[in-house]
Amino acid sequence: MRIAVVGGGIVGACTSWALSKRGAQVTLFERGRPMQETSSASSKLLHGGLRYLETGQFRLVRKALLARTTWLQRAPQFCQQLELLLPIYQDGSRSRWIIATGIKLYDLLARGSGFPKSRWLTAAEVGARHPSLVQSDLLGAYSFYDAQMDDYALGNWVVGQLAAEGVDIRTQCEITDFNQLSSFDRIVNATGPWVASLRQTQPGKSAYKLDLVRGSHILLKRPIETALLLPVPGEKRVVFVLPYKGATLLGTTEIRQSEAENPGPSEHEIQYLLEVYNHYLSPHAGTDDIIGSFAGVRPLVFSADDPTNATREWAFEKVDNVLHIYGGKWTTALLEGEEAAKRILE
Ligand SMILES: Cc1cc2nc3c(=O)[nH]c(=O)nc-3n(C[C@H](O)[C@H](O)[C@H](O)COP(=O)(O)OP(=O)(O)OC[C@H]3O[C@@H](n4cnc5c(N)ncnc54)[C@H](O)[C@@H]3O)c2cc1C
Repeated sequence: MRIAVVGGGIVGACTSWALSKRGAQVTLFERGRPMQETSSASSKLLHGGLRYLETGQFRLVRKALLARTTWLQRAPQFCQQLELLLPIYQDGSRSRWIIATGIKLYDLLARGSGFPKSRWLTAAEVGARHPSLVQSDLLGAYSFYDAQMDDYALGNWVVGQLAAEGVDIRTQCEITDFNQLSSFDRIVNATGPWVASLRQTQPGKSAYKLDLVRGSHILLKRPIETALLLPVPGEKRVVFVLPYKGATLLGTTEIRQSEAENPGPSEHEIQYLLEVYNHYLSPHAGTDDIIGSFAGVRPLVFSADDPTNATREWAFEKVDNVLHIYGGKWTTALLEGEEAAKRILE
């Protein structure tokens, strides 16, 4: 069967991989370079998503926790386990006991993944390991594990596997109309934030609405002792402070937007991230410490009024011979690709 996959992000790449392993003759169309959009603008975490437990996404968290291990086994040169500390303060917006329950549940859902279990560190232990973290009112911290990747390199490693499997990869090749692909038996629309606009070239209303949520990161020119997951003061959100290639990666934000195009990080988002950093860490950071910044647009399936609560699950819609893929996460892209391959071959 000849199948065209449109979109060279991690979802299109993993779908192409799964299809070619099932014997399909696959051509991947990417309008620019593979991994040029959302898939290289992530927080670089292969993670279960501790905070998704708050919105009851247990199934997704379990799948993602196991998916981390698959990536580590397949391409250990581009990802590794990462210990994160979640500090607990006296006046935190979530009680220590709620967080303890979440962390234990995370351990439970991760069973069989081969990752170390979480543990509680006293304030003195945290202070010794992370002297730049504000110590006053600190009760201690939970240490837990996820994994970190170089998303651009790992995504392009997948593309390298595709080339080795005989997938025809056409870069700089934009598909604006499915009639361009009339010589193919079936088509997959894996264009991430652009999935809805390409879907609109077919008749009928889309089965799913996309929630386009921009997230920004900044890179600070200073190393950091350990990775941190920090609750944003006065909000339900969290921000990651991560060691990354000798610098500190700080993110992310959640700004809903109507367009798929990525406008880059706004001044407001940069200030917001610096404020969270300066609330918890010293010496404080300013704009002079920023050596890089980037934004990406999450192609989420619309599911909640507040984008912080939006599902990270994925969904498929089949219209004629085209399968449209909505949503998902980097971590779970191999699973999403497998499911997409099964659907399109049905
Ligand atoms: C700020 C942020 C942080 C995140 N952090 C994490 C994280 O730490 N861990 C995690 O698991 N997930 C994370 N995610 C989610 C994850 O990055 C995305 O779910 C994933 O990258 C989406 O991949 P995709 O292939 O669907 O989209 P994309 O990577 O955007 O790929 C779509 C591709 O389609 C191409 N394209 C579009 N239109 C056309 C066309 N007409 N013709 C040809 N090509 C076309 C584009 O050029 C693009 O390359 C994060 C997302 C954001 C925004």
